[in-house]
Amino acid sequence: MSRREKIYEGKAKILYKGSKPGTLVQYFKDDATAFNAKKKAVLNGKGVLNNRISEHIMLMLGKVGIPTHFIERLNMREQLIKEVEIIPLEVICRNVAAGSICPMYGLEEGKRLPRSIIEFCYKKDALNDPLTTEEHILAFGWATSAELDEMTALTLRINDILCGMFAGIGIDLIDFKIEFGRHTDENGDHVILLADEISPDSCRLWDSQTAEKLDKDRFRRDLGGLVDAYTEVATRLGILKQNPKAPPKLSVVSNDPNSNKDE
Ligand code: UDP
Repeated sequence: MSRREKIYEGKAKILYKGSKPGTLVQYFKDDATAFNAKKKAVLNGKGVLNNRISEHIMLMLGKVGIPTHFIERLNMREQLIKEVEIIPLEVICRNVAAGSICPMYGLEEGKRLPRSIIEFCYKKDALNDPLTTEEHILAFGWATSAELDEMTALTLRINDILCGMFAGIGIDLIDFKIEFGRHTDENGDHVILLADEISPDSCRLWDSQTAEKLDKDRFRRDLGGLVDAYTEVATRLGILKQNPKAPPKLSVVSNDPNSNKDE
């Protein structure tokens, strides 16, 4: 780890220079933060679970034609990704009212929205990632009109695919946040790639039967059991071995002989 050049450290992940030009290593930490890092904790095993869950989702999206930054998982906490220039927008897609949209529009949590709603937030921690509009995005040059159209179309497709994937394992996808990056591919073409991560840190996931929260709201709302909830998501996705006797805490199935390298 220390041999690598750290290029960025965020709240839940660290980025290092990759071994080949144009690549980075994304390292998943156990740190949990909420309310723009006003609330913090270290939750053992969260990084391992998010690395595996995000890998699974990125690979699945890649198979159905969504361009992503994901190249391969390197070990339990790290994945190799394509270097991108992150577009400074958090793209939020909502299917059911939860979180910040409830007080903002006087909605009852859990109410299905008339249709999926996409929101853009300006990615700036110092400003608390404010909700923004197309007008601001274009005026301030955060993205072009073509990029906005592309991000919107990709987000709607990702939502459809993820809703189906989670429905198949008894989970409702309430909402999620994604980020995109600009990348120049092998042919010199400029493309937009799905970047960052998709995990229970960045989605709201409710059990379809019980509405139990299986996401970071367990930490935000002091419900406890975050690692168990993420483990449950990973188990249902088929990433973890099912252990009928004990809670399957971090019995992560690995095909990679180096997978314990950093543990
Ligand atoms: N989200 C995220 N990072 C953020 C803000 C939101 O991953 O910085 C996710 C959050 O987990 C939820 C969705 O985006 O799945 C919508 O979040 P919301 O705007 O309701 O904000 P919150 O209630 O988390 O403050």
